[in-house]
Amino acid sequence: MKVGFIGLGMMGAGMASNLQKAGHHLVVHDLKRQAASHHLAAGAEWVDSPRAVAAACDVVFTSLPAPPDVERVGFGEDGLVHGFHTGSVWFDLSTNSVSLVRDLHAKLAEQGVAFLDAPVSGGPRGANSGKLAIWVGGDAAVFEQYKSVLSAMGDQARYIGPIGAGSVAKLVHNLSGAAVNVALAEAFTMGVKAGIEPLALWAAIRQGAGGRARMFDRMGGQFLTGRYDPPDFALRLLHKDVSLACQLGRDVGVPMRLSHLALTELGEALNRGWGERDSRVGMLLQQERAGIEPLAVDPAAIREVLERDG
Ligand code: NAD
Repeated sequence: MKVGFIGLGMMGAGMASNLQKAGHHLVVHDLKRQAASHHLAAGAEWVDSPRAVAAACDVVFTSLPAPPDVERVGFGEDGLVHGFHTGSVWFDLSTNSVSLVRDLHAKLAEQGVAFLDAPVSGGPRGANSGKLAIWVGGDAAVFEQYKSVLSAMGDQARYIGPIGAGSVAKLVHNLSGAAVNVALAEAFTMGVKAGIEPLALWAAIRQGAGGRARMFDRMGGQFLTGRYDPPDFALRLLHKDVSLACQLGRDVGVPMRLSHLALTELGEALNRGWGERDSRVGMLLQQERAGIEPLAVDPAAIREVLERDG
């Protein structure tokens, strides 16, 4: 089976390589041909447009930054829609807007094309290793038909429900993380300003009740070390996700106080010009407000705590 893949960035590159490792013949496209160099070296075929990908394949995967990119690749000039045939299948692995995926699904269904939203969770490391959750919304029979292809990219490929269900699950997941980070930054900077040494404070709280549920281990990376470059997940993308989630909250009439606070925080960080830095970089703003020195704990000392305390 020829499999199409468009968008070979931080996430797409690893997922596409895992499809190749599972023996699938790939037809690839990206705005930058350079992004496909590893895949071409491993035998993938390059084509110059989404339309050519759709014409050559029965199933197409996209992993693109934001909703306008997905719309352009689908319906722009030389977009997928001009190459699809009856029975074509498109899984969008991007984190996308719920209303857009429903719209694309309806438009493509008229042409006999199945569109499924299939956002992923696990970061670039998971995309490379295959330890990746894929949350799928759309036609359950099409999901079953392509389950083995999805499983070549992610060990946790799961059908969630009708079109849009995967995106809702993804937005719930990322929104939780963004709001939790705002709360953690607030509480922790209070502790540091109250005079506690950051590593000692962190090592203590991760053994409390919340800590034993591993709530604080997320702080052991970028936040404690103060290292936000290069990004695992760019701030511009988390800002997009939280914007989409807040929009969804408005659409369904749910007040979301903390989420809007998190969105404001991420917006302020974007305005600092930090869009390409790691998504957690907004936690620096709270350190500024608190008037503490930027945290810069030695990663080796963090590893020592993790090894010592489990
Ligand atoms: P990225 O910016 O690294 O990669 C996107 C790729 O798409 C780039 O190679 C870019 O050249 C290509 N592209 C953009 N517009 C295009 C177009 N019109 N035609 C062809 N190619 C185009 O982004 P990423 O971090 O890989 O994220 C991709 C998606 O996955 C996003 O929706 C993101 O929210 C989501 N996601 C990211 C992570 C993460 O940790 N990075 C985790 C889970 C989900």
